[in-house]
Amino acid sequence: MSVFDSPAFDGHEGLHAFHDQASGLKGFIAIHSTARGPAAGGCRMWAYPNEQAAIDDALRLARAMSFKNAIADLDLGGGKAVIIGDSRTAKTPALFAAFGRAVEVLGGRYWAAEDVGISPADLAHARKTTRYIAGLEGHAAAAGDPSPVTAEGVKRGIALCVRRVLGRDLAGVTVAIQGVGHVGAYLADKLAAAGAGLVITDVDEEALKAVSARTGARIVAPDAIFDSPGDVFAPCALGGAINPASVARLKAKIVAGGANNQLADAATSRALHERGIVYAPDFVINGGGIISIAAEIRALAAAGSHDHAWVEMKLARLMETLEEVLERSTRERRPAQDIAIEIAQARIGRGSSAQTPES
Ligand code: NAD
Repeated sequence: MSVFDSPAFDGHEGLHAFHDQASGLKGFIAIHSTARGPAAGGCRMWAYPNEQAAIDDALRLARAMSFKNAIADLDLGGGKAVIIGDSRTAKTPALFAAFGRAVEVLGGRYWAAEDVGISPADLAHARKTTRYIAGLEGHAAAAGDPSPVTAEGVKRGIALCVRRVLGRDLAGVTVAIQGVGHVGAYLADKLAAAGAGLVITDVDEEALKAVSARTGARIVAPDAIFDSPGDVFAPCALGGAINPASVARLKAKIVAGGANNQLADAATSRALHERGIVYAPDFVINGGGIISIAAEIRALAAAGSHDHAWVEMKLARLMETLEEVLERSTRERRPAQDIAIEIAQARIGRGSSAQTPES
């Protein structure tokens, strides 16, 4: 079993193994950085083939959370928990109570939220044994579903890109949305309200029909979305949608959407740049969700209530960062993704946003 030699290891502050004999809980909490504040990131439950795969995933995802939290200018570091097990068969209240104890032992250095395989009901069991859980309903600090906030950030990011590239507002612009689940459906509603025309796809027929009925969106088959004529391509389904093959097919001048890990690899980021397609880095434009979670952590830590004005301030700040990333990409003739990563790394190096000159 390798930690320090793992390709996913990047100077992480800690990797904590946890185990509970009675409930069968086994997993890891990775803390990449607490330079900006307590580490925050989701808890994922997955049937990893072996412990090394779980460790690598926890390390990789914790690092990504450091970048996402820093680029959103949150006073949070990056962390992630992984529970080894099949989320369809192995969940019990006792398992999540034991997970809560594992989080509590860290004394607030890590805050957990939802991720793949975990529901709010699971976290409610963990909440009985630790304070350090965000993403629950039914208390004054609760932020609720983060998807509408994510979609709001993505809509504003698309509007920003359209203004920069096409010199106009959203009215009459055509956006192709891949995936109309939580984020994609809210995004479709917001874009339609702003007068944009929509082309949508999904593998879920019911979701497609519902969004199309509300917005007048044209429906295309999943693979045809890459060829649809339009100004913006908005990936809002799974990761890896942008790869060398799809880049070659895109008609859009802008790629800006809510999905995580949109780029298949670093070569894809260069391919987009070389084709002159403006790319809004995913971990910048989709930061609304983590801002919403951060608002909850902030309110819980202060025993206060949810602060909508603070969320709005952070969303506005996120758009300023996106503008800075795109501006530098144009000026320095380098992929926007590389620039966004550099900004995040610099902010992590600097510690809390209270100490950064730009805040
Ligand atoms: P979701 O599961 O509600 O929606 C995803 C949708 O994509 C589903 O409707 C699914 O049927 C569809 N889909 C799956 N495969 C597809 C394919 N091949 N072609 C077209 N559609 C396909 O998830 P979500 O919460 O809306 O999240 C969407 C993306 O945004 C994910 O990558 C997620 O990690 C990311 N994200 C979500 C949030 C949030 O607040 N929910 C925040 C940040 C990032």
